[in-house]
Amino acid sequence: MALRFFNTLSRSVEEFVPLDPAGRKVGMYCCGPTVYDFGHIGNFRTFVFSDLVRRYLQFRGYEVTHVMNVTDVEDKIIKRVHETGLGLRQYVAQYEDAFLADLQTLGCLHPTHLPRATEHIPEMIQLIETLVRRGIAYQAADGSVYFSIEKYQGCGCRYGQLVNLNFDQMRAGERVASDEYTKDALADFALWKARVPEDGAVFWPSPWGEGRPGWHIECSAMSIKLLGPSFDLHLGGEDLTFPHHEDEIAQSEGAGLQPPGRRFVKYWLHGAHLLVEGRKMSKSFGNFFALRDLLAKGCQGREIRYLLISAHYRQTFNFTLEGLEGAREALNRIDECLGKLQEIAGAVSAPPDPRLLDAFTAALDDDLNVAAAWGVVFDWVRKSNRDLAAGELNPSQAAAALAAWQQVDSVLGLGRREESAAPPEIQALLELRQAARQAKEFKRSDELRDDLKARGWLIEDTPKGPRLKRM
Ligand code: AMP
Ligand code: ZN
Repeated sequence: MALRFFNTLSRSVEEFVPLDPAGRKVGMYCCGPTVYDFGHIGNFRTFVFSDLVRRYLQFRGYEVTHVMNVTDVEDKIIKRVHETGLGLRQYVAQYEDAFLADLQTLGCLHPTHLPRATEHIPEMIQLIETLVRRGIAYQAADGSVYFSIEKYQGCGCRYGQLVNLNFDQMRAGERVASDEYTKDALADFALWKARVPEDGAVFWPSPWGEGRPGWHIECSAMSIKLLGPSFDLHLGGEDLTFPHHEDEIAQSEGAGLQPPGRRFVKYWLHGAHLLVEGRKMSKSFGNFFALRDLLAKGCQGREIRYLLISAHYRQTFNFTLEGLEGAREALNRIDECLGKLQEIAGAVSAPPDPRLLDAFTAALDDDLNVAAAWGVVFDWVRKSNRDLAAGELNPSQAAAALAAWQQVDSVLGLGRREESAAPPEIQALLELRQAARQAKEFKRSDELRDDLKARGWLIEDTPKGPRLKRM
């Protein structure tokens, strides 16, 4: 069976066929963080979901270019910059660094490109100029430039591709900044916001005067620059479907840069929201967790990752502290099984056992059906434990099972238990090897290294001293 995804554009599950005629390269964009504060656990559900999509595409043999923007200029950021008296870059740098560290803690692969909005102002201006030239954007009396939905639709384009819109009610409930009252129609949205006193030092020159870009144009300009005007996949949390993604389509297709018959994006994937202890996250409910809060409580990144990918991405997921306990137990079961397999396999290697891989692939091909994939994984753990207990696995069978797991984990991204979990006899060998090295008994030290290797452990010498790593 082929890989299939639910495409918000068609509201149906579709076979995934990349635009690349050779069927190998895939361009994928995921709306990144607004770096005004530490990321919360809900944000990370979306980022872990996009990491899972990327890893699964790679597992299926695609060469993925993964772009995630960093929104480093926006209303909330400007407000905080103003309050703290810091410079814009100085203020956002701390949260950008924290975000990247958090991604790593959660086992997410580093995106291929992490473009910052503030470093792509010329590209945004260029895109707005194209829209103005085409008569789809206009400068209002307040100096801001807006996207005209009426003109866009007049060109035969459709506004409302991702959601069914009721134009009478559209944006009526949205808070409209006073400087936006001069726009022609309520539905129009800002591409370039003219400088106002509250912006302080945050502004750039443009053909329309000083100001800053609107949020939606950032993603259109950066995705087009890095992936071209038409690419395969665009991801984000469900709250971004409207207006953010609808506006991205309007800007990008309104600029008319796509080859005939091509859309801006072929597949739109949206992750459902995360609730915490059954409610929307809120400081007043006491259920608002930055990832850091959970780590401070002693949770491990891989436990949180496990929990975040335990439910289907299109289902609202209820995150609980009990759920984290369950994640820890589930990971322990996997770790123990892997540890036993490793003991049998020793230094033997073997090609991966295809049974686990085939069943895992069939599950995830079905719009990332993780429930079925976890079923496959735990059936495999149960069967492996049975075979291990019965003494029915020889080293090459154990090695084949481990090789298959390694591929499965290239998708799940759980990694192995921390090195400190090496059993005492292994730790003791490491200490003997350290003592031998200090005494300059290099032959003995090499023998001990080989002994550890034969037991499935590698020594990595790091500036902080030696570390044990499972082979
Ligand atoms: P932001 O930093 O607010 O721009 O959000 C970054 C990403 O997190 C976006 O893709 C949002 O859709 C997503 N997001 C925000 N809140 C939640 C939540 N409670 N559950 C899942 N994703 C969320
Ligand atoms: Zn975006």
